[in-house]
Amino acid sequence: MSGSYDFDIVVIGGGHAGSEAALAAARLGARTALLTSNLDTIAQMSCNPAIGGVAKGQLVREIDAMGGAMGRAIDATGIQFRVLNRRKGPAMHGPRAQADRHAYRQEIRRILEEQPGLTLRQETVEDLLVESRGTSHRITGVRVRADAIYRAQAVILSTGTFMRGLLHLGDATFPGGRMGEEANSGISAALARLGFRLARFKTGTSPRLHGRTIDYTQIECQPGDDQPEPFSFLTDALRCDQLPCWITYTTGPVHELIGANLHRAPMYSGQIQSTGPRYCPSIETKVVRFADKPRHQLFLEPEGRTTNEVYVNGLSTSLPRDVQDAIVSLIPGLERAQILRYGYAIEYDYLPPDQLTPWLETKLVAGLYLAGQVNGTTGYEEAAGQGLMAGLCAASALRGQDPPILGRDQAYIGVMIDDLVTRGVDEPYRMFTSRAEYRLRLRADNADRRLTGLAYRLGLVDEKRWQQVQKKEAEIGVIVALLQSTRQAGVPLAKILGRPEGTWEEIVAQLPELREVPQAVARQVTYDLKYAGYVARQEIDVARQQRLAERRIPQGFDFSAVRHLRAEAREKLSRIQPVNLAQAARISGITPADLALVVLHLDKDRTGR
Ligand SMILES: Cc1cc2nc3c(=O)[nH]c(=O)nc-3n(C[C@H](O)[C@H](O)[C@H](O)COP(=O)(O)OP(=O)(O)OC[C@H]3O[C@@H](n4cnc5c(N)ncnc54)[C@H](O)[C@@H]3O)c2cc1C
Repeated sequence: MSGSYDFDIVVIGGGHAGSEAALAAARLGARTALLTSNLDTIAQMSCNPAIGGVAKGQLVREIDAMGGAMGRAIDATGIQFRVLNRRKGPAMHGPRAQADRHAYRQEIRRILEEQPGLTLRQETVEDLLVESRGTSHRITGVRVRADAIYRAQAVILSTGTFMRGLLHLGDATFPGGRMGEEANSGISAALARLGFRLARFKTGTSPRLHGRTIDYTQIECQPGDDQPEPFSFLTDALRCDQLPCWITYTTGPVHELIGANLHRAPMYSGQIQSTGPRYCPSIETKVVRFADKPRHQLFLEPEGRTTNEVYVNGLSTSLPRDVQDAIVSLIPGLERAQILRYGYAIEYDYLPPDQLTPWLETKLVAGLYLAGQVNGTTGYEEAAGQGLMAGLCAASALRGQDPPILGRDQAYIGVMIDDLVTRGVDEPYRMFTSRAEYRLRLRADNADRRLTGLAYRLGLVDEKRWQQVQKKEAEIGVIVALLQSTRQAGVPLAKILGRPEGTWEEIVAQLPELREVPQAVARQVTYDLKYAGYVARQEIDVARQQRLAERRIPQGFDFSAVRHLRAEAREKLSRIQPVNLAQAARISGITPADLALVVLHLDKDRTGR
């Protein structure tokens, strides 16, 4: 053995999940090691160079409100900022930014390097070390390449698409975690040996072009917002020159060419068998699935300030090189464009997440946590949100504290983790606003009010940050009270904002002294008053869910002993092992009658009758 090291927590993989996991664990005081195969690809964006979007932007704000790095890093390195869906209600607003891919990686690495208590090391993990007694297993560390061991009480696995990754480019297949990076089979083998179920998903990416070979005179320019909005609640204002993106379209001849070459597409030749992200289809899938559509929109996204590389968002493909060259030459503005990197697809192992607890620890091996793409999700933001929670939960467990679980009424992160562990996945899971039943309260603009207090109590953010949120909350309270008590023609001014078309400007017209109120505060007052009715109605449902959540189901509860329970319910409840009645109720196919039988049994256990 050439090395042996001791830590409280080891995080495997410095992607979006691993970076947030390591930061959260270290911030809670755990001696943490982040082991990653290549320090230069920390927080690499495997696909498009962008952070946020509808529902994903909400995730980034939540991560930021809980002290995570993603929001700060994109504010520091973004090259274009836009809020999507601005014309819709605030619950649908989705902050999004184009990233400078290289600068973003460097910024996350800088934040990691500055984190006290965190050791960053280039290592490739090849095996998991586990102590077994009968059927119970506990993680004790990891073995890395070239014979060294890292011992730890908890291990967070966040290796993305690297577990038995297989790349496809035309009819060529070769192992890889991403193009140019080595795949890993040791961890898959270790998980299978321990008795975990593994499955495979597929994803793909677009070709990248040389920007100087694009004819921008023929295509539409898409500028950023005039007043760009930061992601992080810690960023006062963004002072950066924004770069434009560009819009072009596929054409009839492109569709004909793809149709004529479908037999050479791994997706259609039978070479790729696994399921890909339904809402991020390849261009070949779009042409087949939407055969009546004459064209598909493509966004040309610059990869950064110091490169000419341009990402073609919407053209994900694993067609052979010659077909990709021909497709590009048939697109307006790209007739003479050179491909710098070809698009490709990847199949990889993931662990169906119904094998995890709501705090992302595996049910089979104590102390082993999973976060990110390995749990069947897709997207940087989804990965980062899980990473933060895995780091937090692992470190809390080492302190002997109950695992902090975010509710579906508290955060999109809570919705996502509950969906994953309660319902599992049958396609790569990405976040949508439609997944959140309480989306009117889970807005991008109020993530700090929802989560920073909790993050402070858990030790994730400092007192100064919590005081800022408290100050803002107090200001909101004072203004709401003022608007409720100030009357105009006998009607409280608050009613103005209660109307669908009522605006803050009308309020300022009545009370000019409010002109100086910071925009962030004015916005919260407006939304609080506008949605007070809806939120109050939702409160009833939230309270009902909370009552169900308070009814805990003991760990290891034997559902087969519940009399008269249907076989399907018994199988699902035994497999998912819900931690309380609210989670049990959300398992698909579990009926109120099933729940009533479980309650009866729990009551009997409690009273001993
Ligand atoms: C080709 C491709 C196309 C994609 N397309 C899309 C898309 O269209 N839309 C979308 O939302 N998402 C897409 N994704 C997924 C997106 O990149 C991921 O969701 C996101 O990066 C997941 O973050 P993560 O932290 O879980 O893993 P990753 O970002 O993959 O990070 C994993 C990290 O683990 C490290 N690692 C792996 N194995 C080991 C080991 N054994 N030891 C040490 N370190 C290790 C790697 O070096 C890497 O740094 C795509 C990914 C790929 C590869």
